[in-house]
Amino acid sequence: MEAGRVFIENSWQSPASGRTLSVIDPSDGREFARIARGGAEDIEGAVEAARRCFDAGWGRLAGFERGRVLMKVRERILDHAEELALTESRDCGKPLRQARNDVAACARYFEFYAGAADKIEGRTLPYAPEFTVLTIREPYGVTGHIIPWNYPLQIFGRSVAAALAAGNACVVKPSEDACLSLLHLAEWMAEAGLPSGAINFVPGLGVEAGAALAAHPGIDHISFTGSPQTGTRVAQAAAMHHHPVTLELGGKSPQIVFADADLDAAVPVIVNAVVQNAGQTCSAGSRLLVERGCYDEVLERLGAAFSRLRVASAHADSDCGPLIRRSQLDRVRGFLDEAERDGLVRVAQGQVETDAPAGGYYQVPVLLRDVPVGHRLAQEEVFGPVLAAMAFESEDDAVRLANATRFGLVAGVWTRDGGRALRVARRLRCGQVFINNYGAGGGVELPFGGVKSSGHGREKGIEGLLSFTTLKTIAIRHG
Ligand code: NDP
Repeated sequence: MEAGRVFIENSWQSPASGRTLSVIDPSDGREFARIARGGAEDIEGAVEAARRCFDAGWGRLAGFERGRVLMKVRERILDHAEELALTESRDCGKPLRQARNDVAACARYFEFYAGAADKIEGRTLPYAPEFTVLTIREPYGVTGHIIPWNYPLQIFGRSVAAALAAGNACVVKPSEDACLSLLHLAEWMAEAGLPSGAINFVPGLGVEAGAALAAHPGIDHISFTGSPQTGTRVAQAAAMHHHPVTLELGGKSPQIVFADADLDAAVPVIVNAVVQNAGQTCSAGSRLLVERGCYDEVLERLGAAFSRLRVASAHADSDCGPLIRRSQLDRVRGFLDEAERDGLVRVAQGQVETDAPAGGYYQVPVLLRDVPVGHRLAQEEVFGPVLAAMAFESEDDAVRLANATRFGLVAGVWTRDGGRALRVARRLRCGQVFINNYGAGGGVELPFGGVKSSGHGREKGIEGLLSFTTLKTIAIRHG
């Protein structure tokens, strides 16, 4: 990787601005690298390069040939797994084992979509007897990908591997806050055999490079993961040129515990669902809904678990690393100040290790109880390790509370009653439901995405692949 450059047509180039941005280590608040400050001109160059690549035939290549290239990308990722994990860990402030997991997941996306590239099928449709009608799926052409800072490798993998497998050429705007792992990947993807222009990276500010990509008339589809506010801007920009958009905008996802649940199994999973990646996870289980009969017991167990949680530098590989940046720490503290002002009860909290470097963006995990359903802590995405608990009285009440936010991404249901688990799952307004687990270990194969303000469109699985294709109907009249 060449620091301070953009990657277009398989080569490193100086950004048109000639400027760079500093990369801060969230564990100590110090600059440790610099990246290019790409902007509209670089996006222009990247989109043109992607279009040339697409027109030159990447999308017309046999699916199995694209699949073979993607499988080589997977091998490159695994060859460099530890280097990538160390980079991702430092850049994002992730505990190292989490970063290793993210590398493995990224490789798995390339594996999954490599295998699926030659299985993109159409249908034949019954119609009038003098016709044969069939549908075929084609790539859009040039796809834009705006990747956030919380899981750069994973979100890149789920979006870009699918788009490439479908035959698109991609322009990627990674986050200025964490993009080094993706810039490392750039060269390895070229070495794996991706044709020039199939993958282009323009790091830079969201409001400059990101906005330019979303608004570019030369792209045919854009996928975005981030906040609802920026998602709205991206969708508005895309609407000017009628580009389809996939939006994944986070959530306020409920973990619902009935009194008959296996609490030994549930408690560690509930903790992990909100503490993983310091709570900076779109699908974080940040609301806890517990049946009144076991509410106090669950909070007691969770309180003990939260008190044991330790926060430290990414490299220390503790339960929680730092948050991504100072403004994210301020945002989470703002929520907690509000909770205190409103008299919400803090059941327990973790602890920052004494040797955590000064200047890092450390936030202890916090468990709050009796949070009213209308409170901001129960309604808005905190994106930090904060769990808001409340009691419910009945199955209907649980469903009512679970659905009572503007979000609808995922949910967890803990019960030993199979009928109830399915009844509740079907009444929840969200894109994924986990019964007696949370997250199913990541699940590359499992379609993922939201309803309501959590966004629309699906990533992961075969649906994620198909979302990067457009459907053409061919009607043949043969008499
Ligand atoms: P944003 O939604 O602003 O950032 C997400 C991505 O969008 C980043 O790559 C960013 O680039 C880019 N971006 C920013 N502005 C624009 C723009 N005008 N046009 C196009 N792209 C843009 O989120 P923040 O980083 O500001 O985080 C705020 C909150 O958003 C978090 O607290 C969290 O609640 C939520 N969020 C949710 C995520 C999820 O996984 N669902 C991921 C990230 C944030 P850059 O970083 O370079 O500015």
